[in-house]
Amino acid sequence: MPYFDHNATTPLRPAAREAWLEAADRFWHNPSSLYPEAGAARQRLEDEREALADLLGADDPEDLVFTSGATEANNAVFAHYSRPGQLATCALSAIEHPSVIGPAQRDFAGGAISPIPVDAGGQIEVGELQRSLRTAPTTLVSLMAANNETGALQPCGEAFAAARAAGAVTHCDASQWFGKLPAAGVAALGADITVGSGHKFGAPRGVGFALLAGAGRDLRLQTGGPQEARRRAGTEDLPAIAAMVAALAEAESQLADMRAQAPLRDAFEEQFASTLPGAGAVLPRGRDRLPNTSAVLVPRGKNLRWLTRLGRLGFAVSTGSACSSGAENGSHVLAAMGLSADAIKRSLRISSGANTSAADWDGLLGALRCVAADFPG
Ligand code: PLP
Repeated sequence: MPYFDHNATTPLRPAAREAWLEAADRFWHNPSSLYPEAGAARQRLEDEREALADLLGADDPEDLVFTSGATEANNAVFAHYSRPGQLATCALSAIEHPSVIGPAQRDFAGGAISPIPVDAGGQIEVGELQRSLRTAPTTLVSLMAANNETGALQPCGEAFAAARAAGAVTHCDASQWFGKLPAAGVAALGADITVGSGHKFGAPRGVGFALLAGAGRDLRLQTGGPQEARRRAGTEDLPAIAAMVAALAEAESQLADMRAQAPLRDAFEEQFASTLPGAGAVLPRGRDRLPNTSAVLVPRGKNLRWLTRLGRLGFAVSTGSACSSGAENGSHVLAAMGLSADAIKRSLRISSGANTSAADWDGLLGALRCVAADFPG
């Protein structure tokens, strides 16, 4: 089945599978135990940390904490920096993932959240962030690197520099960046805490990492045992970690193929808009975005009905974030960009992988045309 939902999750990469099985067979002892086999598992864990630091261009492997994924890390960030009993304010964009918005609302209750608006192209307005930083002392600024629904890249460098100058800790959910753009590029974004999720780039689900720098080095994710230098308690899932590092290495070696998705996606969007009256892409051509992502509006009918029909024709797409696919009011991301409720109901998210072929894109176009015939205009 041509799979166009890579922003939701990705298939397990062969290199990840191999690393996973090897580590599960050979290094199943608890890395915190004290006999030689456990020592070997500890050594392997630290080797993986070093390999990941190299891929990320991080100076010190000790700045990496392994997690169960982005949701855990995002929750921990807000729990940590909300400092119970103190006056704390956070600023976050209106288009963050629910795993950021939910914890922000939970931990910074009482109106201490400054939502930063986005423009019609889905990018935050840095001027608005600067205004907000001048108005209220801000503890934490949270901004995703790339949006999961539109692929829009965010002006993180500029935003984080402004946040740092105002004394705020900066947090970047970079879940959608890794595997699609060079991993070392996130360091250039300059966040104190950068979060990644393995299953977005070919690792199994349930493993991720947080890269800590500057003020972010204070972050404590879970309390309990002394694992991860006391920053994240819980026995490390070494096979999953080994698989994640292998997956990222393989994804990095395939970035040229991923880049080649952009012209295929652009051609698809052009033909989609020109052959189906009323249909079109949400973002204008040339907008800074992930090479694999296309948010489109179908000409008529509800997106869920299109999704079901496309599924029957063998094409997997989504109506937006998989995490909010049950949400009643549709996409908060598209709403923040100013799309009408009617347009949002007609939105589909299409996200390809490095191996998606021109024939797959053509097939999707044909399937959309075929479905359109079901919805007389
Ligand atoms: N943040 C973003 C931007 C995402 O796209 C996702 C996945 O949908 C998550 C966080 C959640 O990641 P995880 O599944 O690792 O908890």
